[in-house]
Amino acid sequence: MTRNRPVEQTDSTYSQPSSIPQPNASAAKATTKVVPASHGHAFKVRKGEKFRVVDIHGEQVIDFAAWVDGTDLVEKVSMAYTRYHLSGATPAVGECLWTCKDEPLLRITDDTVHVHDMTFMSCFPELYEKEGIKGHRSCASNIAEVMEPYGMGSYLEVTDPFNIFQNTPNYALKAIGPSKAGDYIEFEALEDSVCAVSCCPYDLHGFNGGKVTDIAVVTGL
Ligand SMILES: [Zn+2]
Repeated sequence: MTRNRPVEQTDSTYSQPSSIPQPNASAAKATTKVVPASHGHAFKVRKGEKFRVVDIHGEQVIDFAAWVDGTDLVEKVSMAYTRYHLSGATPAVGECLWTCKDEPLLRITDDTVHVHDMTFMSCFPELYEKEGIKGHRSCASNIAEVMEPYGMGSYLEVTDPFNIFQNTPNYALKAIGPSKAGDYIEFEALEDSVCAVSCCPYDLHGFNGGKVTDIAVVTGL
């Protein structure tokens, strides 16, 4: 039996688990970017384009932020506006992430986990320093690093993330992550957007499965 492989693997070290759902065969331009453990990645998506954020190995939190392209990082996804429109903090398929200009920017079109957080901040350098660890990578610095080409000057500009696969029932952080290998969330861009992900480097107290692992972003769906 022949089988189409529509996903271009941009990282030759990436062995795609069979559990990662494949885009449909018409998605000829689909591209998979593997984001190394504890690092970030920024990418543009055009209006109407879908993309997936994938947990390759399981129990990995992924901080996510997005901006309307062409607004100098001013109009961005806001968890406060999103919680207002959702009347809560548990987004469902079909619901959207909203911007600080009260516009829907990204619609959730598929989700194999249904457990995410929109109440906690990204981890940041001082969080680790207060634990006695200097120079530890953080989600805030990861996002600032990959957003620098788009005009971000400091990790202090990173706020208000959508924490994909982060388990915070009743606003209490739980160490056990809900995602399994190959789980993903899929979005459709309602406007041209710039998005950033951070593979959360928080490796203390058993979080992220006790071992931070690679994630992937599949664009062009
Ligand atoms: Zn983090």
